[in-house]
Amino acid sequence: MSTIVENIAKVRDRIREAAQAAQRPVSTVGLLAVSKTKPASAIREAYAAGVCDFGENYLQEALAKQAELADLPLVWHFIGPIQSNKCKAIAEHFAWVHSVDRLKVARRLSELRPERLPPLNVCLQVNISGEASKSGCAPEEAGELAAAVAALPRLKLRGLMAIPEPCDDPEQQRATFARLRSLAEALNASRQLALDTLSMGMSHDLEAAIAEGATWVRIGTALFGARDYPAAPTA
Ligand SMILES: *Cc1c(COP(=O)(O)O)cnc(C)c1O
Repeated sequence: MSTIVENIAKVRDRIREAAQAAQRPVSTVGLLAVSKTKPASAIREAYAAGVCDFGENYLQEALAKQAELADLPLVWHFIGPIQSNKCKAIAEHFAWVHSVDRLKVARRLSELRPERLPPLNVCLQVNISGEASKSGCAPEEAGELAAAVAALPRLKLRGLMAIPEPCDDPEQQRATFARLRSLAEALNASRQLALDTLSMGMSHDLEAAIAEGATWVRIGTALFGARDYPAAPTA
């Protein structure tokens, strides 16, 4: 077996165990394979092992890989910071965007989403750890932003996404993810929304995220190995 195939089996075991511990059906936790910086051949291998959803952070890199892999029925997720001038290509080439953090970008994505495609699934990225340097809207702003995004015709607001500051303590990881879950529940109640998605958990903290209700875990390193160029999650 190749390393990627072995890694996928290990990550699936971790997901299954975490879902069981949380008494959640394993089918409620999606595996989003984060393929940034990795070649199309790695994606092809993962697809052959049953992975269909892939997350990319850099538009040009993603478009090149999508062209190379056009023969496969892959579902592409954009998970990186979004510049306004990239909205057109993102709206045309992805099924999901996890990193919407301001209304201007949401409006452009909605305006530019082609009519021939279904509405673009979006998550609002929330700065749940409150670090000045990170992207994501402030939790206090999430209600207003969510209400405005939910009203855009060519977007389907699905839920919330967070990239917490790195932390080794499982209890603290859970407490942070619990804040995102509570925020989503509060928005559903106070804004009459139907958010069904929590995009949270990466290679080192997927167990804590699943314990707190993650519906997408975004896994890079544990599937594809270490990356050789930057891409701190929030770059
Ligand atoms: C790179 C990245 C990941 C994957 O992180 P790993 O620690 O390699 O699993 C997840 N989410 C986002 C937004 C990323 O940029």
